[in-house]
Amino acid sequence: MIEPFLSAVPVLKRLEEAGFEAYFVGGSVRDFLLHKPISDVDIATSATPKEVKRVFPKTVDIGIEHGTVLVLFGQKSYEVTTFRTDGAYEDFRRPKEVSFIRNLTEDLKRRDFTMNAMAMDKTGQLIDPYNGQLAIKEKRIQTVGNPKDRFHEDALRIMRAVRFVSQLSFHIEEHTMRALKELAPLLKNIAVERKKAEFDKLLIGKGWKEAITILLETNLYCYLPGLQNQKKQIEKLLSYNSEKLTKNEMWSLLLFCLQQDPQSTETFLRDWRFSVHDIKEILRILAYVERRLVQEWSLYDLYKAGRATIQSVEKLFLVINGLDEVSRIAQLLDQYDRLPIKDRKDVDVTGSDLMEWFGLNGGPWLKEMLVKIEQAILAGKVRNDKQEIKEWLKPCSQN
Ligand code: ATP
Ligand code: MG
Repeated sequence: MIEPFLSAVPVLKRLEEAGFEAYFVGGSVRDFLLHKPISDVDIATSATPKEVKRVFPKTVDIGIEHGTVLVLFGQKSYEVTTFRTDGAYEDFRRPKEVSFIRNLTEDLKRRDFTMNAMAMDKTGQLIDPYNGQLAIKEKRIQTVGNPKDRFHEDALRIMRAVRFVSQLSFHIEEHTMRALKELAPLLKNIAVERKKAEFDKLLIGKGWKEAITILLETNLYCYLPGLQNQKKQIEKLLSYNSEKLTKNEMWSLLLFCLQQDPQSTETFLRDWRFSVHDIKEILRILAYVERRLVQEWSLYDLYKAGRATIQSVEKLFLVINGLDEVSRIAQLLDQYDRLPIKDRKDVDVTGSDLMEWFGLNGGPWLKEMLVKIEQAILAGKVRNDKQEIKEWLKPCSQN
């Protein structure tokens, strides 16, 4: 066995010593078999949350109603979830209630896809009642049981299937695909936050083009915020070859294809429940991309944009123009690093200095003059030194 499972084996052992069953389950087992980096290991157990809390001194209640307790153990934390079946589903969303059970196979049965419905014990032995290993070998995404029933129970699974196409470069099994097409409208009932979590992962996956193509072919895109009626624009996205773009860069590229004004872009991002931080970042990237498409970077633009935005914008500029000149990004960042100032705070002169020197009150002139000073410093016309700036300003004030 390998890390991060190894460190978690004692957690399974403790539960077993207390008389319960415990296994690794879900995405970590799948990724282990795929030789992919393993993020978090999830643990499933026959112990109820109360019993789990009795076994471990340090726990946090993070989802008791779903049977999940966070166990703090040896500097790490593990989500330990009681075997459960999901009760009646309401409106194609998550179940209102879950029932705790003592049987692993039943727990695996409620999981979405066969590749995600395997368990591994502390010795590395696999428990695979739904042939998940074969599905992984054949790169197949297939629901556990009847796909229509499973998508009716929780329509997010439709989105998850497409997300896994992108993330794993797997294909969707025929019946699962047919059900997905037929039941695409059920996605209407799913909370935007849950759709976004899947779409984020879809956008940064290796197979994003295949996944986007499926969204278009199945009309799933019609049930995603701001994307209905945008088929042509989404197809435009498929014409770009982008690798190694970050999540927000991919969203920016998608928004670039939608060609909306900044106000509509902001509404789009709000509808998708983006954080204020991400909205700002994406709007900024898009504004500089538009600028970059009509002109080269000026020193002042580099200064105003800042390192992270320069990098994102230039990456997108190369993608949009189908260029493969990544060295340009390093050159620009180097140029940025050598700028004598990076922020207005770095300027050796303040607004109060200027008001004092010119004997004037604040007003628009102040901002204009500060910009002039910034530009002069950046262009090397004056050193970033209070006295030198004062001297330099003298002839300026006469014209
Ligand atoms: P990732 O690598 O992105 O974390 P994951 O498969 O681990 O992928 P999670 O959302 O972490 O996805 O879910 C953990 C496990 O819980 C899944 O592997 C699956 O067994 C089960 N699961 C998650 N969401 C659903 C769902 N909507 N319906 C049924 N089972 C689900
Ligand atoms: Mg996971």
